[in-house]
Amino acid sequence: MNTTYRDILKWGDKRETQIDQGTINVIKEKFGYSESDLKQKHLEGNQEVKLDVKSDLDQEILKQFIEIVGSDNIQTDDYSRVVHSYGKYYADLLKLRMGVVPTPPDAVIYPRSEDEIINIVDICNKNNIAITPFGGQSSVTRGVETPKGGISLDLTKHINKVIEVNEINSTVTVQSGMFGPAFEDYLNNFGTGYSCGHFPQSFEYSTVGGWVAAKGAGQASTGYGKIEHMVLSLKVVTPNGIINTKTYPASAQGWDLHQTFLGSEGTLGVITEVTMKIHKYQPNNTQHASFIFKNFESAIEAMRTVMQSGVGVPHLFRISDPEESEIAFKTKNFNGTLADKFLNTIGYKSGDRCLMFVAVEGSRSYTNQVISSIKKIAKKNKAFSLGAKPTKKWLKQRYSSAYLRDPLMDLAVMTDTLETAVMWDNLIPLWTEVRKYLKSREKTVAMVHISHVYENGANLYFTFLSPMKKGDELNEYTEFHKGIIETIQANNGSLSHHHGVGRTLAPWMENELGKESLNLMQAVKDHLDPNGIMNPGNTLGLKP
Ligand SMILES: Cc1cc2nc3c(=O)[nH]c(=O)nc-3n(C[C@H](O)[C@H](O)[C@H](O)COP(=O)(O)OP(=O)(O)OC[C@H]3O[C@@H](n4cnc5c(N)ncnc54)[C@H](O)[C@@H]3O)c2cc1C
Repeated sequence: MNTTYRDILKWGDKRETQIDQGTINVIKEKFGYSESDLKQKHLEGNQEVKLDVKSDLDQEILKQFIEIVGSDNIQTDDYSRVVHSYGKYYADLLKLRMGVVPTPPDAVIYPRSEDEIINIVDICNKNNIAITPFGGQSSVTRGVETPKGGISLDLTKHINKVIEVNEINSTVTVQSGMFGPAFEDYLNNFGTGYSCGHFPQSFEYSTVGGWVAAKGAGQASTGYGKIEHMVLSLKVVTPNGIINTKTYPASAQGWDLHQTFLGSEGTLGVITEVTMKIHKYQPNNTQHASFIFKNFESAIEAMRTVMQSGVGVPHLFRISDPEESEIAFKTKNFNGTLADKFLNTIGYKSGDRCLMFVAVEGSRSYTNQVISSIKKIAKKNKAFSLGAKPTKKWLKQRYSSAYLRDPLMDLAVMTDTLETAVMWDNLIPLWTEVRKYLKSREKTVAMVHISHVYENGANLYFTFLSPMKKGDELNEYTEFHKGIIETIQANNGSLSHHHGVGRTLAPWMENELGKESLNLMQAVKDHLDPNGIMNPGNTLGLKP
């Protein structure tokens, strides 16, 4: 039975993950850790969950909730409340490891139907009780925290079915609490076989509603688009009534209202149903390629050329910068091998060279044509082809690589990821400045990749590893993180490309959008949620 903070904080498969020897070697080399350092475990969070904060829910109201959902679908015990207190942001994990949970929800409710959601929202609205919609809990922006207590509305237990697949229109209507694997599995096995096309690294433990609410991007977004390019219509229960947009391929009746809820992060209402595009599932046609380039600039040039030359786009399209490429080689024990020596001799030098991974999906003729065009463009930019294998290998660990974060934190390693969208002409300057900032912290490993690519620009994704300062873990992280965001903003990168804003990035929203735009968002919020009960507490920089 799960009883500890560690049971809650662990990402992914709840079994403990062992760090591979390649990664251990990198930590030893970069941080100077000794064997005995590696034996010491730091802030593991193995203590039993115990809350000091009592549930503040009025007994009369609790009774009303029980009448709606039944006593099996409401929880007020410590463990359930702590589970619903945090997402998976680095600072959340630190707080759980320390057993710090100052503002848990008063109750967790698992509604069984949309009607029940309507009734719950109504009671909360009349009684000024905060509601935080809760999906897979994979938020990395403090999106599911409950600073005002109230209700955590967990949609994953019951609101998790496919409602309809329409093969003529190539659409699916799905309830918001369905997890990625169940959704994709359903589509793969429906009729002639379909795919949702949305595969974030958190795919296994995130839901359709969370993808929409946090405006995410999957690893095949270059081909299929971000989630806002996939959603055609949706249904939302707001404190001010139900919004149910109609499904059209496109329309011109004012602005697209459904887009208001893409990125709404629970602040406007509870998304209950989503209708989105689906794609033919034909994995046997997928073509893979991998390349190594002499430097980051030539890899970017090849990538941009592919996106702008009209030859068709790949679905997975990814470049690792020199440091990320070197770490990838080191952890796979490639350095020093004959192949490594050969690559260095012919000009693909460690410290400069960059890896590119490509996968193209679709019909056989499409994948043949696109992969052959990409190979030609890569060759023109002096890439060395590594064949299909490295990309296939990368795809195998596309989700599980994130499982390493928890065991790394056990070794007192500060590790987090940040991401931004940038126009092509500003990509190298932004990359240079953010890396410079990351490197200003002693012994920091700063790995960067480009993973969501557009005709006009791309996403830069930063992963850093650095030794923790024991005893001051939270403060030193908060300060470092603040500096990264400020450097991104000062260099004209977007505040977020796909993680969303939550409470973590809220303080920078006015600077990002400008006062009038933020006022406009606030006006929409005030209309739909006049009492400010939906995910309150500065989410998206909104009041109260
Ligand atoms: C290891 C890891 C890797 C990740 N990789 C990616 C990635 O590749 N791409 C990416 O886009 N993101 C990624 N993320 C971030 C996160 O997984 C996404 O933001 C995801 O879309 C959140 O989905 P969820 O179901 O877990 O939502 P939750 O975390 O439960 O909620 C996220 C936000 O949405 C709101 N919300 C949830 N459901 C609803 C609903 N039905 N109605 C209204 N509001 C709702 C919540 O209130 C909260 O504000 C990653 C996170 C982790 C931990």
